[in-house]
Amino acid sequence: MREYDFIAIGGGSGGIATMNRASEYGARTAVIEGKLLGGTCVNIGCVPKKIMWYASQVSEAIHKYGPDYGFEVGAHKIDFPTLLKNRDAYVERSRNSYQAGFERRNVDVIEGFAKFVDNNTVEVNGELIRAKHILIATGAKPIRPRIPGAKLGDVSDTFFEWTELPGKVAVVGAGYIAIELAGVLHNLGVDTHLYVRYDTPLRKYDDIIIEGLMQEIEKDGPTLHTHAVSKSVEKNEDGTLTLHLEDGRSEVFDKIIWAIGRTANIDVLNIEATDVKVSDKKFIIVDEYENSSVEGIYAVGDVTGKNMLTPVAIAAGRRLSERLFNNKPTEKLNYDNIPTVIFSHPPIGSIGLSEKDAVAKFGADEVKVYKSTFASMYTAVTAHRQLVKMKLVCAGENEQVVGLHGIGYGVDEMIQGFAVAIKMGATKADFDNTVAIHPTGAEEFVTMR
Ligand code: FAD
Ligand code: NDP
Repeated sequence: MREYDFIAIGGGSGGIATMNRASEYGARTAVIEGKLLGGTCVNIGCVPKKIMWYASQVSEAIHKYGPDYGFEVGAHKIDFPTLLKNRDAYVERSRNSYQAGFERRNVDVIEGFAKFVDNNTVEVNGELIRAKHILIATGAKPIRPRIPGAKLGDVSDTFFEWTELPGKVAVVGAGYIAIELAGVLHNLGVDTHLYVRYDTPLRKYDDIIIEGLMQEIEKDGPTLHTHAVSKSVEKNEDGTLTLHLEDGRSEVFDKIIWAIGRTANIDVLNIEATDVKVSDKKFIIVDEYENSSVEGIYAVGDVTGKNMLTPVAIAAGRRLSERLFNNKPTEKLNYDNIPTVIFSHPPIGSIGLSEKDAVAKFGADEVKVYKSTFASMYTAVTAHRQLVKMKLVCAGENEQVVGLHGIGYGVDEMIQGFAVAIKMGATKADFDNTVAIHPTGAEEFVTMR
């Protein structure tokens, strides 16, 4: 039997960061990974997604804005295999870079799926591995609807296996993945249809983001189908798929992508062999220190269902290792004001509370909102003027900024620094006291009245 101080089940963002940090303090550590090191983010998530988004940005620049900047442009034509070759090579380089880090820090890598035997022991390929501390970092996986023919559709995992661009695609869902993939496909020239169950996508976001997104979708985006509840999918003789909705509408597609949420990846863990409690949605229940219900077993990242973002898994895991191996007993991740970006067209950035949530928390009298809408300069000289919309949500007499939201060209790269300011408790007066950078879109955040 092998013995360690700390092992991670799952070699994705959370597992890798946690073991690397623990080993820096002398812990004997191992990462157990059943598929590919790097997990979702590197192999079938953030990284290949962002490359596809960049490709669609290039396509948008050429076809939408190019002509008004004086470029001669033909029909959409993309050598998809070249894009895939370069994307996959980049992903492979990113994956390989982990190995060097493990060697430098003496983190063992164990290939295979881990199954719990008891609260301190797991089994991998028939071998027993024991550790004083065990981290569950097995991530999440996409959900498919429970309707006839659902298996005929793709999910984000299998989207990354496509070797050619289909002509016509349905994307079903209303969150991050639906918006991002629909935008990518539409801007690569695919006839893309987005199906949402209610009036709009991203219902939980601040109104200004929904407004901005809806405006862009209606003007220049994928075809939006609202109040659309999928009923079944049928395969036709020519290989196409028909998506049937509950209300009788139906349409034929080459591909259908389900992007309706993710669930914890715990099927092969044999969690029943432990006393670890899971929620009714199968996420591992942890406290604010990432402790599970069993002493010595912890969980970070998507498997906990808390803010499913790579930097969150990494930050929570590193703090856990600081707590366990660097004598910092109160170290934990504060989940407030986590900034996030949706790589839509145009991109969306959001930090803190929406206006509605701020009103619910502080009361309407205590909340003051500042807004700005302007045409992004990049697009303003073209026939496709794209509006940027921004909002600051402030609370209390000193107008502390408790929410910052924006949709528009460049917003994805604008908000990280504002997240620092908000985390430090910046007020509207602090924003006003900051000199603008001109001409940028970001300057609007410090000049709102
Ligand atoms: P994962 O990265 O999923 O790693 C879990 C690992 O555990 C996997 O490699 C799996 O094979 C392994 N595993 C599972 N069970 C076992 C077992 N029993 N034994 C051994 N190994 C096991 N986040 C962002 O911040 N920005 C983005 O732009 C972004 N884009 C995304 C795009 C898509 C399409 C998707 C799906 C996700 C995206 N995310 C993004 C979310 C991000 O990928 C996740 O939040 C992050 O990967 C979570 O890390 P994790 O360590 O919790 O899990
Ligand atoms: P999300 O939870 O973001 O969104 C899924 C949405 O789909 C739901 O909110 C719901 O919206 C809708 N939905 C649910 N069930 C159905 C159904 N049966 N039919 C149609 N629509 C349905 O999940 P995603 O899969 O998009 O992404 C998972 C997570 O991964 C994200 O929450 C995010 O944390 C992470 N991620 C982060 C990215 C980034 O940082 N840029 C990019 C991609 C993923 P409604 O109730 O309105 O119908």
